[in-house]
Amino acid sequence: MTTSDKIKQYALSLGFDVCGICCAESSGEEDNLREWLRLNYQGDMSYLERNIEKRDDPRLLVPGAKSIISVALNYYPNEKRNPNLPGFAYYAYGKDYHFVVKDKLKQLLAYIQTIFPETEGRFFCDSAPVLERYWAAKAGLGFIGKNTLLIIPGKGSFFFLGELIVNQELDYDEPIDLSCGSCMRCLEVCPTGAIEQPNLVNATRCISYQTIEKKDEQDEDVDTGNWVFGCDVCQLVCPWNRFSKPHNTPEFIPTPEFLSLDLETLQTMNQEEFSTLFLKSAVKRAKLVGMERNVRKLIQYRDK
Ligand code: SF4
Ligand code: SF4
Repeated sequence: MTTSDKIKQYALSLGFDVCGICCAESSGEEDNLREWLRLNYQGDMSYLERNIEKRDDPRLLVPGAKSIISVALNYYPNEKRNPNLPGFAYYAYGKDYHFVVKDKLKQLLAYIQTIFPETEGRFFCDSAPVLERYWAAKAGLGFIGKNTLLIIPGKGSFFFLGELIVNQELDYDEPIDLSCGSCMRCLEVCPTGAIEQPNLVNATRCISYQTIEKKDEQDEDVDTGNWVFGCDVCQLVCPWNRFSKPHNTPEFIPTPEFLSLDLETLQTMNQEEFSTLFLKSAVKRAKLVGMERNVRKLIQYRDK
């Protein structure tokens, strides 16, 4: 077994569902990113305007970088909220994924250091200017769908991605030769028309942006429907997600309080109750004031 195979096997033993490795180099995506920014599709996410060169080339982010080890961790829930309750994207059901994925990547780095003690590296999970989906596709984990998400054949797209960038040369995987083909379901079904063209999302019209990233009031002309934190529509309609299976990560199991959280409770929640319920959850990013705003918009939608 090669060292790369051992690393991938160890990643699976940590609970990751897929692992692949590619060479750290320029992605060649800089022009696409600049064009997307020129259209102002990033909205309030001004951090995307910074570190464009680092985002394109991970060697500028991690000096000495040779390889990118990409991992994916399933978050498809076993038990779901009643669809009549206010909508939370599946990824927000359990403990904040940043901690869970990074903790596992830390263990993966420690394992590599037992093989190559001189290994240095940094690990990321939605936490730095890293083109996560691009590198995951390059490392053969899956392909990027027209909804811009990574689709893993036989598993779907309800996955967190993480990367370990190291100063070791390793054996590299090949991208897989698959695509959406003629399917256009996510573009047709997106409630706000945010997927303007295949692989082109106007984030400012996306419900995830409106309910999580937007700083002030939501835009009146973007109907966020029943969602109060994120949106899963373009994944739920994707035929590749008929392969989704419930995750095996205990940290992602939702509490009974979260599963039954209703509109009335959300409307009357005070800061202490919000902080207690979402203490270890990604939902706390929205803050109570953001959740109150999202609930107001949902009520507007229901009253229409
Ligand atoms: S998350 Fe929802 S709003 Fe955003 S692109 Fe997908 S379907 Fe459209
Ligand atoms: S719904 Fe269809 S077009 Fe959209 S990502 Fe899935 S396979 Fe691709």
